[in-house]
Amino acid sequence: MGHVDSGSDGAARRRDAAVRAAVRQGIVTADRPVVGLLDVPGIRAAAAALHRAFAQVSAPGTDVLHAFAVKAAPLVPVLRLLAEEGLGAEVASPGELALARAAGVPPARTVLDSPAKTPAELREALALGVAVNADSREELVRLDGLLDDGAPASVPPLGLRVNPQVGGGSISALSTATPMSKFGVPLRDEGAREWLVRAYAERPWLTRIHAHVGSQGCPLELMAAGIRAVYELAEEVNEHVGARRVRSLDIGGGLPVNFASDEVTPTHAGYARLLAETVPGLFDGRYGLVTEFGRSLPAKSGMVLARVEYAKSAGGRRIAVTHAGAQVAVRTVFAPEAWPLRVAVYDAWGRPKDGAPESQDVAGPCCFAGDLIATGRSLPRLEAGDHVALLDTGAYYFSNHFAYNTLPRPGVYGYAEHQRTEGATETPSVDVRFVPVRPPQSLDELVAESGGAHAVGLTALR
Ligand SMILES: *Cc1c(COP(=O)(O)O)cnc(C)c1O
Repeated sequence: MGHVDSGSDGAARRRDAAVRAAVRQGIVTADRPVVGLLDVPGIRAAAAALHRAFAQVSAPGTDVLHAFAVKAAPLVPVLRLLAEEGLGAEVASPGELALARAAGVPPARTVLDSPAKTPAELREALALGVAVNADSREELVRLDGLLDDGAPASVPPLGLRVNPQVGGGSISALSTATPMSKFGVPLRDEGAREWLVRAYAERPWLTRIHAHVGSQGCPLELMAAGIRAVYELAEEVNEHVGARRVRSLDIGGGLPVNFASDEVTPTHAGYARLLAETVPGLFDGRYGLVTEFGRSLPAKSGMVLARVEYAKSAGGRRIAVTHAGAQVAVRTVFAPEAWPLRVAVYDAWGRPKDGAPESQDVAGPCCFAGDLIATGRSLPRLEAGDHVALLDTGAYYFSNHFAYNTLPRPGVYGYAEHQRTEGATETPSVDVRFVPVRPPQSLDELVAESGGAHAVGLTALR
């Protein structure tokens, strides 16, 4: 494993070295003009920082499970890497559960959320021993039914998602604690609190409260206020029952990512400290804790690296036509105000490009006019054969492909620096080693998943 630089200078230096090596080693080529790259030591460092952050504020012996939200990077080797770093998995579909299992994440370190679990999914989770958070009163009734007729001898931790209704952040699509959010049992609705206390009192197996207040765009204070609200509910339930009915709190994820610079801010440590100030009782050892951070673990360790195919101009506007567009950066293209990305520019050999900045648009390969990663961005002049890197895209970008124009999912590679010694007498030099995470999708695969086996199917109908 390569050494890990601390701080943002290290991240930028590692990134530049990786781009240079990706070009030199043929990871990105004229025929494979877009790839996703993951800085493996960077991801390991983020995982270690998360463990430290919660260890520093928790009473000794507090049981803490950090379950990585699989949707942020649904890639089996990433889940495996994080499992090796001591994380579990939060899954929200049969597909995500299958990925976690393929990565070897044990059921006891897996948590199933999702607002639309089928009876079969619930049954499978109970049989496997995967923790489940019911999303609604309706789902709780479904669990009642399953546990009545032949529940396994020991049930995994079962919880109920509560929406503390503390309000939303700046991105409404990612704000989950608004008064009318589709998630969870609303805590402040008429009669809800009494219903919740009774629901726990009546079910000895209902031992967890779950909340996930929001993601990118939510102030940390808002998230902490939401956790405080569900903690107070847990205290009320336990007082009412006269025993430790609620044994663990699943506080969700949602730490925002800084897309404006290499600085990691906010940090897991800062958020853990804020939680400890806002909800001291959370960390005194009486409750087991589960977290579900997603984006904050791999985001800053990922980039999309793409070749510039053409540089053109139209009506006085300079446009670099690259191979990275909506297929790898769907949110940025469709909601550019909410999801701006930094673009780093490199020459044909993968060396950082300098030169007087000029206003340019960075476009993608999709056939619609809005397929733009950046507009009017000041960058050194881009030319055909250069490369652009879309930074901080390790979560929710190249891992969540958008299949417009039947563009293939790009290959994804993890990288780390390693020492290379040429001859016995030479001083060691640092090189970058790449390992495959996901192969690029082939044309045959694209045809197959687009109904290739059923080519004549429709012609049979009149
Ligand atoms: C998406 C999601 C997460 C992770 O959110 P991030 O913003 O990626 O940290 C955690 N828990 C639940 C229930 C989610 O839906």
